[in-house]
Amino acid sequence: MNIDNRYALLDPRLFHKQPPKPLKNPIAGHFNHALASQLGWQETEPDQWVPIIAGETLPDGFDPLAMVYAGHQFGHWAGQLGDGRGLLLAQVIDQNNTLQDLHLKGVGLTPYSRMGDGRAVLRSVIREYLAGHALSSLGIASSNALGFISSDTPVQRETLERGACLLRVADSHVRLGHFEWINRFAADVLPEFTHAMIETYYPECLTAESPTLAFARAVIQRTAKMIADWQLVGFAHGVMNTDNLNITGSTLDFGPYGFMERFEPTWINNHSDSEGRYVYQNQPSIAHWNLWVWLGQLLPLGSVDALVTKESLSELLATFEPEFLHYYTEGMAKKFGLHATPNGILELSSQFLRLLEKNRLDYTNSFRLLSDDTPQGWISLRDEIIDIFAFDDFAAQYKALVEDSERPESERKTAMDAANPRYILRNHMAQIAIEHAEAGDFSEVARLFDLLSTPYTNQPDRETPSDISPLPDDKPPVNVSCSS
Ligand code: AMP
Ligand code: MG
Ligand code: MG
Repeated sequence: MNIDNRYALLDPRLFHKQPPKPLKNPIAGHFNHALASQLGWQETEPDQWVPIIAGETLPDGFDPLAMVYAGHQFGHWAGQLGDGRGLLLAQVIDQNNTLQDLHLKGVGLTPYSRMGDGRAVLRSVIREYLAGHALSSLGIASSNALGFISSDTPVQRETLERGACLLRVADSHVRLGHFEWINRFAADVLPEFTHAMIETYYPECLTAESPTLAFARAVIQRTAKMIADWQLVGFAHGVMNTDNLNITGSTLDFGPYGFMERFEPTWINNHSDSEGRYVYQNQPSIAHWNLWVWLGQLLPLGSVDALVTKESLSELLATFEPEFLHYYTEGMAKKFGLHATPNGILELSSQFLRLLEKNRLDYTNSFRLLSDDTPQGWISLRDEIIDIFAFDDFAAQYKALVEDSERPESERKTAMDAANPRYILRNHMAQIAIEHAEAGDFSEVARLFDLLSTPYTNQPDRETPSDISPLPDDKPPVNVSCSS
């Protein structure tokens, strides 16, 4: 592996070096071999990777540290936070020449643990493992994980659960909240830190007239793209605090997330979010709010770069909405199988989403039904709709756009199937895998891992009925909260 531990070269106030505190009697959970080869990771046999992921052994060149950061949680200043149960083990340049962080989660208390116990439980480790893989396989910027282990060490949450560890891989663990911590607790580091972030993550901005503004512009753009991708696939992050968004715009921190089933704009998966701050439809405006907080942290850089002013930062913030809409409309046009991004695509998609909402239809399956059918009436979906007049109105608009786009029917179907997944990670799917794993059987995790590796491809031999159906109305939803 090509190790490049750059974070450890920054100001020592930004982290605390310490070894992992291992989990005893580790049991192999699952390992992502494709990701291992992308990283150049050699220890691919269970007797090699299990002790590393359990925190028992450290490969050469690993130099673990806990990062400190801060943040706004649920809209309120939360003060100092940090890696309270995870350690950055090493940074590695992968085969695509991208710097990747290897971060081991669940390996004991750090100076930033606050009230926590430094551990992670098997349930949330599996949820994180599968979600990172699901999003990555969907083509959405996300952290992923190399593997996880289970153990018989009990860890107290609402009930006693199994302790577990996960080796997370992300292109950055630098959160918007890092800048908040620096301004509050080590303000003199801000210029050097910002420069290092630009050099590492946005080197193309170094030659701009104002590297800081170019960097901020790029962070806004990547965040807008990520949020658009979430909305398009129906992903609700659940806890978009400023410490849970990173500066590379890749999905980080899988806790109370969920993939939407029946379309519902105010859908919330996180039972801890009683006010609904992080409901699905709020995600773009919350990202905007988080970026507003973050841009405010760059203002002191005006002392070293005169172009950084309140006005220039406000102008940048105003680019978020058009960027988001650009990616969202472009993505919607793809979901409807249209060639370009025609005017009227937002009206069409709103009309469609209203139909789904009123008829409580599955977001993922409904798009797939549209691609399976022909514009001769989209019969399969029409059959599911009560208000057929509303449906026919939508169908007429859609048909007009399809005809305008002048795309052969077979090509439209292929394009739609490449933009609309057959499989998402439904809560009940993860839950079944968790229940088996709690009993020591990881085969369901492995099956879902394989299924979700190619989410756009029909896999009749591998899928089960619950993989392609929303939770039946008579079944209680899986209770997901911030407790992990
Ligand atoms: P999160 O809600 O996952 O974004 O975590 C918020 C903060 O709590 C972060 O600073 C975490 O490091 C910390 N934290 C969460 N769970 C634990 C735990 N079990 N032990 C120690 N710190 C934790
Ligand atoms: Mg977090
Ligand atoms: Mg978390």
